[in-house]
Amino acid sequence: MAFSAAHESQLLASVPTGLLIGGQWRPATGEKTFDVEDPATGETLLSIADATPEDGAAALDAAVAAQESWGKTPARERGEILRRAFEAVTARADDFALLMTLEMGKPLAESRGEVTYGAEFLRWFSEEAVRTSGRYSTSPDGKSRMLVNKKPVGPSLLITPWNFPLAMATRKIAPAVAAGCTMVLKPATLTPLTSSLFAQVLQEAGLPDGVLNIVHTTDAGGVTGPLIQDPRLRKISFTGSTPVGRSLLADASQNVLRTSMELGGNAPFLVFEDADLDAAVTGAMAAKLRNMGEACTAANRFIVHESVAGEFAEKFAAKMSELTLARGTEDDSKVGPLIDGKSRDKVHALVQDALDGGAKAVTGGSPVDGAGYFYQPTVLIEVPASARILQEEIFGPVAPIVTFSTEDEAVAMANDTEYGLVSFVFTKNLNRGLRIGEKLETGMLGLNAGVVSNAAAPFGGVKQSGLGREGGLEGIEEYLYTQYTSIADPYADDQ
Ligand code: NAP
Repeated sequence: MAFSAAHESQLLASVPTGLLIGGQWRPATGEKTFDVEDPATGETLLSIADATPEDGAAALDAAVAAQESWGKTPARERGEILRRAFEAVTARADDFALLMTLEMGKPLAESRGEVTYGAEFLRWFSEEAVRTSGRYSTSPDGKSRMLVNKKPVGPSLLITPWNFPLAMATRKIAPAVAAGCTMVLKPATLTPLTSSLFAQVLQEAGLPDGVLNIVHTTDAGGVTGPLIQDPRLRKISFTGSTPVGRSLLADASQNVLRTSMELGGNAPFLVFEDADLDAAVTGAMAAKLRNMGEACTAANRFIVHESVAGEFAEKFAAKMSELTLARGTEDDSKVGPLIDGKSRDKVHALVQDALDGGAKAVTGGSPVDGAGYFYQPTVLIEVPASARILQEEIFGPVAPIVTFSTEDEAVAMANDTEYGLVSFVFTKNLNRGLRIGEKLETGMLGLNAGVVSNAAAPFGGVKQSGLGREGGLEGIEEYLYTQYTSIADPYADDQ
């Protein structure tokens, strides 16, 4: 169902436009603001407070001040705040979906999917909050007792990207709340609105002042840099590109901060000759088109057995060419705009480089004229091994297909990248699927599945795709440290 322009304006008017510091929404020092744009029209949606380094320092002060009492708040209480937030986000799914579509561009149906996925982290960690058990045991020599306990890491800096404005925030905030950590959140400049609406929901759900602080800023390095150098900060959790992640890791080394890094990907999508080709095409559509290809988990390289590559390309291109490109708020929109002009230019430069090297476009291959940053869904064949598109993250609706003849060749091609976030394998032979999975350098594997994301599963990569895991049993551990107490022999004075 599409929403009216009046409904859009009403929703935008309800979004806080300030910084959230110590429970108060307030303007930036000097009243500086920046504009948030609708990528489908190029029009300004709202102006948002643009934090200075002083505002960043105030946000950390608030997080530090709140840490002690928040860390002591019973886990059940923290979990219940998350549960109430889950109910509230679910009840307001239409508002969250519309807001994400407005600021990020994805079709409403996809935004609704993200609301379900993002809210699930709130429910999952509301349940995990009370399960951070330690242990009490007798030392091997029988002389002492060992008490092992889990404690919150402390004030954490969370930095999120623009591609999943709700889910990337809840995937960090929910485990931090569950573990008892206070936070300073720096959302992406391109999509700050969803985080602010979500923070308001958390306040209404009973999150105490100062636990979550938000600094929107166009000076990411200038505002977060001093926080990373501040000895009161204990952790950085970052989701974004590998180059920025590398530089944050270097900065974090100064105070030996705990770090979680969810970085870029270059996912291989392997189709074997024994695969169910229709299922592989359905999986390919999900793995490529989700979020218009602007996902770290997007299939980046289609590595297809030479005997089925022609048929796969034909069926895949037929589906890609049927998709309707439109502003995400339109009922028939299947593909929204890319996030901005710079991103669209980058996608097109990668396509052009492949075409110049001898690749052929079975469908698509160009930007779309007119308002917004639309790019045609594209399938490329005969892509030369030297093409940049096989090495770089595309972040757009473009599928380059290359072929292989043996299993070993397929594995070598899949692993030929600095990234290792997710891989997809399509085969009807389970042994082959498991065997290939063991040989792939990847943090996650979709076996006959085009989507792997699930709040109950550990999300994360190997190689230069990152460190640590979000979601699953592992997610909360990123916000806890282990404290061990050695207890002298309780029988020492037992006569
Ligand atoms: P990005 O340019 O690295 O930005 C991510 C966040 O970092 C934004 O909030 C950005 O702020 C901030 N930032 C940029 N430079 C910074 C600096 N010097 N110091 C501190 N913060 C800084 O990435 P993006 O373009 O938003 O997102 C796309 C990337 O994220 C892709 O590479 C994608 O694969 C990756 N990603 C990974 C995962 C995963 O789970 N592995 C999930 C989603 C996305 P501004 O917005 O102000 O620039």
